[in-house]
Amino acid sequence: MNRLADRLEGFVQSDIRRMSRECERVGGINLGQGICDLPTLPLVANGAIDSIRAGHAVYSKFEGIESLREKIAAKCERFNGYRADPASEVVVTVGSTGGFAAAAMATLNPGDEVILFEPFYGYHLGTLRLLGVSTRFVPLRGPSWEIDFDELAAAFGPRTKGIVVCTPSNPCGKVFRREELEKIGALCRTHGALAYTDEIYEYIVYDGRHHVSMASIESCHDLAITISGFSKTFSITGWRIGYVTAPADIAKGIGLVNDLLYVCAPTPLQYGVARGLEVEESYYAEMASDYQAKRDMLAEALRASGMQPCVPEGAYYMLADVTGLGFGGAREAADALLAEAKVASVPGTAFYASGGGDQLLRFCFAKDFEPLEQACRQIRQFRAASVRT
Ligand code: GLN
Repeated sequence: MNRLADRLEGFVQSDIRRMSRECERVGGINLGQGICDLPTLPLVANGAIDSIRAGHAVYSKFEGIESLREKIAAKCERFNGYRADPASEVVVTVGSTGGFAAAAMATLNPGDEVILFEPFYGYHLGTLRLLGVSTRFVPLRGPSWEIDFDELAAAFGPRTKGIVVCTPSNPCGKVFRREELEKIGALCRTHGALAYTDEIYEYIVYDGRHHVSMASIESCHDLAITISGFSKTFSITGWRIGYVTAPADIAKGIGLVNDLLYVCAPTPLQYGVARGLEVEESYYAEMASDYQAKRDMLAEALRASGMQPCVPEGAYYMLADVTGLGFGGAREAADALLAEAKVASVPGTAFYASGGGDQLLRFCFAKDFEPLEQACRQIRQFRAASVRT
């Protein structure tokens, strides 16, 4: 007898998590899941510790503590270039994943349709499916992940209620340009759709690029639901502190869902992040330049092993084409890399809906330099192993 609800039919553990478990089992270096195990910024850690010591042990408002919402609003104005009223347009959520789920639940009905760019982040698709929302896919074509706007326009239909824009993109690292966001926004406006923009990697952009928020574009502001958080910016992926900014009517609905799902984000950790937002501005640029050095190091190692990396413009993942290694598919390649080189990656199929990505692996380089260097050495040696057969 199936004791699970129909909505879970076909759901299995994500490949991202599966590879982490496999990696732990063989004692490998995990470049699969975007765990981001860098040391926690003392400012952020102390903010939370002080808050616990001060006895901030009870629920916060469902939309989050005032000081954090105010600092998020200030950061949106300073960095993202748009205004959000901290009292009515900012909701602190349990990670950006919780933010996306609450936003989707607050705005979408079963049977509505949402467009995703492919490759996509699997949790966007999974969450939508869980809610009975239908999805359509519009390919981003490598190596530069361009959008075919005719194809995008054709994907909008009478049931389209939204589009997900993940910029910088997980997994392909595309940083959406202003003109692209404007055009996406114009299509949304024509069709009465909302844009769910996942901007969790907003500070991680390379080669002098700038992150552009859709909400900062005047013609798009009232249809943009901006989702972000602090997991990546402060390397605190396990704290689960994210946020959503949206026009007040939508933010109100998101707050209500937030309350029903989990009442509020963990209060002392909200205080920690609020303290973290006082960090000096240079922190962000240094983080991005460290990641850029790591990106380049990993790209080199992948090339040396016979893979073809697609060097990302932002975020901290790299897709690499493994055709040259001669495996039957991505899963086989990922399993061999883990078994032989003791390095975990994620099969590209996790980011495509139907059959795509089977020659791709995704590598995460959110690691300290030392373990990443070690992983790179092991990846270089992998070539020898694969050429041997
Ligand atoms: N965002 C991270 C990734 O893409 C981690 C997500 C997760 O574990 N669900 O790997």
